[in-house]
Amino acid sequence: MNGNVYKKNELLASVVIKGLQSRNMSGYYAKDKDEALKIALSLIPENSTVTMGGCTSSDEIGLTDAVKNGEYKFIDRSQYEDKRAAMLDGYNADVFISSVNGMSDDGVLINIDGNANRVSAIANGPKKVLFIVGMNKICPDVDTAMKRARNVAAPANAQRFGLSTPCASTGKCFDCKSPDTICCQFLITRYSRHKDRIHVILVNDELGF
Ligand code: SF4
Repeated sequence: MNGNVYKKNELLASVVIKGLQSRNMSGYYAKDKDEALKIALSLIPENSTVTMGGCTSSDEIGLTDAVKNGEYKFIDRSQYEDKRAAMLDGYNADVFISSVNGMSDDGVLINIDGNANRVSAIANGPKKVLFIVGMNKICPDVDTAMKRARNVAAPANAQRFGLSTPCASTGKCFDCKSPDTICCQFLITRYSRHKDRIHVILVNDELGF
């Protein structure tokens, strides 16, 4: 990463962390992926029950492997035949790991979902929610974060899942009502009633999409 961009990200992260604190959420700055992994693991007590939606950012800092192979009870959705049972077990987890689809620089989190298992877990599921967020996802305001979610994150996710949506064939959101749409539920997290529930690790790198 260009040194000037890195410094800009470092400065911006302290603004974002203040915004998160004003919303009763905790923010952390990690200078790189290794530091992000250390911070994340320090927030997950051993023997915790841990679950996640598919999270490329967690994969990229090594957190997914660390949780699967460490002293944790990992709820692995891929091992469930009954996806609804996996979802309900996940709600009772101690820790949910996710990223965001976009985030404003004053600490508002934007997430889009098709089946709503991820956004419902973030809104009102596991006792602690841990977000891994590359600085590439920070936007100047909520509108821009929503545009990012719909024009960057959602089309990339449509590619990932091989969906038949306009964004999958053009790379741009057309506000579709396709049966395959992943834009069924939009979660805007602007405040947490529960202190110490939401933790956001800002990583000075490009993570996920
Ligand atoms: S609304 Fe449709 S076209 Fe737009 S990002 Fe979502 S799935 Fe893609």
